[in-house]
Order: sequence, then C-alpha cells, then structure tokens
Amino acid sequence: MRPQPRPKTCSRTGKKRWPDHKSAVQVLHHASISRTRAAEFGTQSHRSEIRTYPCDACGGWHTTSRKSMAAAA
Ligand SMILES: [Zn+2]
Repeated sequence: MRPQPRPKTCSRTGKKRWPDHKSAVQVLHHASISRTRAAEFGTQSHRSEIRTYPCDACGGWHTTSRKSMAAAA
C-alpha cells in the first residue's frame, strides 16, 4: 500500500484527520457554504459538519455533526 496524501484517516474514528484546528475549521466553512447554497435552491446539503474537536487518538482534528461530545462514548 502506498501512503495516502492528505488528509490521513484516524485509526480510531475512521474520519479524515486534519493536522490542525485551522484546517478543520476550513472544512466546516465549506460545509456551511454548501448548506447555505442548498437552502437557497430549496434542497438539502449532505454536508452536516458543524463543529471541530481535537482527537487524542491521532493527535489531529476531526469534524462532526454532533452538537456535543457529551453523549459520544
Ligand atoms: Zn483521530
């Protein structure tokens, strides 16, 4: 297997791993734009990411559609 270029995937969550907060926030920003555009056209975006969080498994950042981590095991 040859190494994947960015972004790498987290072994615990299987999510894309962003190297820093800034990168993760940019993803959220794109998701937000996607949702806004979809709403303007009366459709729904499949982008649901609303927040970022640091991951202690991979040391990177992930995006999630959950509002709170409280219920996440
Ligand atoms: Zn991770």
